[in-house]
Amino acid sequence: MTTAVVVAVDVGGTKIRAGCVIDGTVGHLREVPTPAAEGREAILDSIAEVVRRVMRETEAESSGADLRWRLGVGSAGVIDPETGTVVSATDSLAGWTGTRLTGELSDRLGIETRAVNDVHAHALGESLAGAASGTRSSLLVAAGTGIGGGLITAGRLLTGRRFAAGHIGHIPVEAARGLPCPCGGVGHVEAIASGPAVLSAHRRASGATVSSTRELAKVAAAGEAIAQQAFERAGRALGEALGGLANVLSPEVIVIGGGLAGAGEHWWHPLREVFEAELIPAVRGLELRAAELGSDAPLIGAASLWSTDTGEAGTREETV
Ligand SMILES: [Zn+2]
Repeated sequence: MTTAVVVAVDVGGTKIRAGCVIDGTVGHLREVPTPAAEGREAILDSIAEVVRRVMRETEAESSGADLRWRLGVGSAGVIDPETGTVVSATDSLAGWTGTRLTGELSDRLGIETRAVNDVHAHALGESLAGAASGTRSSLLVAAGTGIGGGLITAGRLLTGRRFAAGHIGHIPVEAARGLPCPCGGVGHVEAIASGPAVLSAHRRASGATVSSTRELAKVAAAGEAIAQQAFERAGRALGEALGGLANVLSPEVIVIGGGLAGAGEHWWHPLREVFEAELIPAVRGLELRAAELGSDAPLIGAASLWSTDTGEAGTREETV
């Protein structure tokens, strides 16, 4: 008997994480820095190397069992899951646009590969094994360096015609009016509610430089009003955007992950307050829930590309 095993990898702008996903849990987790400035070949080589390491360690532990490997990838950039190609990507990964991601990795590793956008993978992971497990429709919001999202509807990921569905950060909100957004537009919620936007708002008002939203959350918890206001402004703006989305999409639950989800009540309270105030009566009571799987979520979601449409994340046993 051959056992099918999925190794999953999450390719971000700063690090590449890989692990073996079995029954919705991640084992043999390995992480390396992304050689993001060195271009496509270097990034692909690094992915292949960390995947090989996970495979070797898993094989060493499986005492001679006949393993049939598959690879699931969640990657930064707009990914076409049908062709496994990077349709577009920002400069944070040099030369990534146009990469035949699944083809190149299959060539390097000799195993079948599927790929999806990293935030889409995150949404799949929380839907299958995390805060939205047991639901058929959920919206995952990743609020951190940027603000991204993924919508699961009728148990399936919505990718959209150009695979770019879920760009929640680029919804216009009143509070961001006139502010430049990293996408090149103006007035989008990411311009006021992302982690970097919170940090720069705090820096402008206080003159102090704080390195991360995690550190700033400590400053806010210690009672500094300027830090509290920076989080409040971001939370309110995101609440406005999510309330509007809830009215349009009516999911069973909205799951919030990313670095800002750890920022405490100075962010969560205004987020919930504005969100609830925006809801039409038909969707009132819709819950905002904190994500549960952290950085394992994209791995579990990427592995699930090898599961059935309604099935579980992880491996299947099959007789070949
Ligand atoms: Zn934008």
